[in-house]
Amino acid sequence: MAINKFLLFALTFQLLLILHVSSESSLITPKKFLELAKSPEVFDWMVRIRRKLHENPELGFEEFETSKLIRSELDLLGVKFRYPVAVTGVVGYIGTGEAPFVALRADMDALPMQEAVEWEHKSKVPGKMHACGHDGHVAMLLGAAKMLQEHRHDLQGTVVLIFQPAEEVFAGAKKMIEEGALKHVEAIFGIHLANWIPLGKTASLAGSILAGSGFFEAVITGKGGHAAIPQHTIDPVIAASSVVLSLQHLVSRETDPLDSKVVTVSKVHGGGTLRAFKGFSQLQQRVKEVITMQATVNRCNASVNLTPEGKESVPPTVNDMNLHKQFKNMVKDLLGEESFVEASPLMGGEDFSNFAEAIPGHFSFLGMQDDTKSYASFHSSLYRVNEDALPYGAAIHASMAVQYLRDSNKGSRDEL
Ligand SMILES: [Zn+2]
Ligand SMILES: [Zn+2]
Repeated sequence: MAINKFLLFALTFQLLLILHVSSESSLITPKKFLELAKSPEVFDWMVRIRRKLHENPELGFEEFETSKLIRSELDLLGVKFRYPVAVTGVVGYIGTGEAPFVALRADMDALPMQEAVEWEHKSKVPGKMHACGHDGHVAMLLGAAKMLQEHRHDLQGTVVLIFQPAEEVFAGAKKMIEEGALKHVEAIFGIHLANWIPLGKTASLAGSILAGSGFFEAVITGKGGHAAIPQHTIDPVIAASSVVLSLQHLVSRETDPLDSKVVTVSKVHGGGTLRAFKGFSQLQQRVKEVITMQATVNRCNASVNLTPEGKESVPPTVNDMNLHKQFKNMVKDLLGEESFVEASPLMGGEDFSNFAEAIPGHFSFLGMQDDTKSYASFHSSLYRVNEDALPYGAAIHASMAVQYLRDSNKGSRDEL
């Protein structure tokens, strides 16, 4: 009798143990991802990668070493990937290899500027700097990859990791789409580090979060001569001055005051930038017309290039309503009610918009400002990443992917 009781107890204990273990592995909650992302195993590893990338910044479509580092880390994790996609881009796959497919995106490129921050891991390349936090974005996505790979058997579909080149010139996302990076993918998420949001908080909104954005370069030609005899010259400086003033009327006189548009002439020896949430291509057309007509009025010739130095324009970044709802709930679950901030639309542009135009997408900002208020705005030579934000980014990426796959009711089971 005593033996039977012992056997019964042992069987019950084993059963409980099995139940406990299986519930542990299937319940990969956002909170567990955050704990894991903050553990030295993941956090220190992400910091090491981010610092290595920061020391060796590479510009758009030149991210060869960055891409190599990503691939070697994916290899070590046992994550399968496609390479090259859009010259230096990498697309990794974790999970069943079957539908549904959800993508997470990080951009890899740096900016052509000199770092002014003096620290141990300062850029080693003169005139190049990670001043937009893309080194942090890569580290966060690799962090997510590491955690997702550990839980790959629990994924109810496939997570697609998109490491994208050339965001700063608005050309990388488009090329990745052309080369099939979104094949089978039904939703995509992107995160950008932000210095105006407190550490551990995140901001986004449903609908347009970033403006359509583009560049222009105008060359106005006149006829040179002595300043004392202007009647024998055709002065392009006067024509350029008229152009600058007339371009301002496109916003003040041709735009609904309730709409947002920006036309900035940022250099007189060069060109400027255009930004709008609505009517972006009409704005480009009007800029062209104003410049060429004003030049003609002043007896000069003008040519306008809307893609100077290969820089493309991008549409507005529009967040999908349903993905936004899912995102907001997940963030509140992960970080608490107060952690989600409703964002205001920004006039900045992002080529994530190309992904979000092709399939439903969601773009959000991740806070990194602390009490020191010492984190400068992106594209500043004083820009720094608060590395304490990296675990939040990795956990948000991983949690969103898991939740999306779990919630997804769309069922076509396409093979990879
Ligand atoms: Zn940037
Ligand atoms: Zn950026």
